Amino acid sequence: ATPTAVMVATGKGASQGVLIKGGDALEKAHKVKTVVFDKTGTLTVGKPQVVSAVLFSNFSMEEFCDLATAAEANSEHPIAKAVVDHAKRFRHKIGSNPDHIPETGAGVTGKVGERMVLVGNRRLMRTSEITLGPEVEKYIFENEELARTCVLVAIDGKMAGAFAVTDPVKPEAQRVISFLRSMGITSIMVTGDNRATAAAIARDVGIDYFFAETTPVGKADKIKDLQGKGEIVAMVGDGINDSPALVAADVGMAIGAGTNVAIEAADIVLIKSNLEDVVTAIDLSRKTIARIR
Ligand code: ADP
Ligand code: MG
Repeated sequence: ATPTAVMVATGKGASQGVLIKGGDALEKAHKVKTVVFDKTGTLTVGKPQVVSAVLFSNFSMEEFCDLATAAEANSEHPIAKAVVDHAKRFRHKIGSNPDHIPETGAGVTGKVGERMVLVGNRRLMRTSEITLGPEVEKYIFENEELARTCVLVAIDGKMAGAFAVTDPVKPEAQRVISFLRSMGITSIMVTGDNRATAAAIARDVGIDYFFAETTPVGKADKIKDLQGKGEIVAMVGDGINDSPALVAADVGMAIGAGTNVAIEAADIVLIKSNLEDVVTAIDLSRKTIARIR
C-alpha cells in the first residue's frame, strides 16, 4: 500500500479503537487464514474469581494465603490477582515479596522469607517434583469438570493447599469466532491451562481446535508450525506469556487491557479489548488492499 493509504487506514483504525503500529501489519492482515487466540484474558473475561480454597496441610488459612499472595506479588497474571483478591475478601494477611519472580507460564516460584513457595498448575508441580496425592487429584478432577482452573500451592516441597478459579468467556467470543469462519478464517486456541478446562472453553466458544498446557515458547512454536505450512497467522493475546507468540505471528494483536509487554510485542492493539475488533482489523486491511489494487 502507498504511504497515504496506510496513513488513511491507520487513522480510520485509530478512530475505531484499533491501533495499527505499522504498514507491515496492515499489509499482511488481509491474508490471514488462521487466528490463534490465547484463552485467559483473551477469550475469557480475564477476571478469574476464586470460588474455593482448600488446605492439604497443617498451615492455617491465614498463613497459607499470606505465603501464596507473597509468591504472587510480582505476577501480572489474572490468576495472581484472583488469589490476592480472595485473601483480601477474607481479610487474610497479604504478603509482599520484593524479589523478582520469573514467569514460567505455569505459575510462580518464590522464596518468601525462609520458605520456598510454588503457586501454579500441575505442570509446575511436576517439574518441581511435588507429589500431589489422591486428595489433591480428586480436588483437581472435580473442579476441572466444572471448567474451573486449579491453582496449586506447594510450600517447602510439599502440597499445602489449592484454590479453584472460574473465568467466564467474553460475551462476544462465540459470535466473533463464527463470523471469522464465515470470512474463511480458522480459529485456534492456545493456552497454558489444562486440557479439561481448555476443552470446556473451546466448546463454549466454538473454537475449531486447541492446544492446552502450552508454554510461552510453545505458543510461539505453534505459530511457527502453522507458518511452516504456508499459513499467514494472526495471534491475539493479552499476557506476558503471549509475547513470544505475538512476535512470531505475521500479525500480533494485543488486548488493550492486557499487560504492557504484550502491547509492546504486538503490531495491532485492540484498545477496547473487544474481540469484535479482530474482525475490524482484518476488514480494514482487506478494504485498504482492495482499494489499491
Ligand atoms: P493462558 O494461556 O490461559 O493465558 P498462561 O499461559 O498465562 O495461560 O498460564 C498457564 C497456566 O499457568 C494458567 O492456567 C495457570 O494454571 C498457571 N499460571 C500462570 N501464571 C500463574 C500465576 N501467576 N499464578 C498461578 N498460576 C499461574
Ligand atoms: Mg492470557
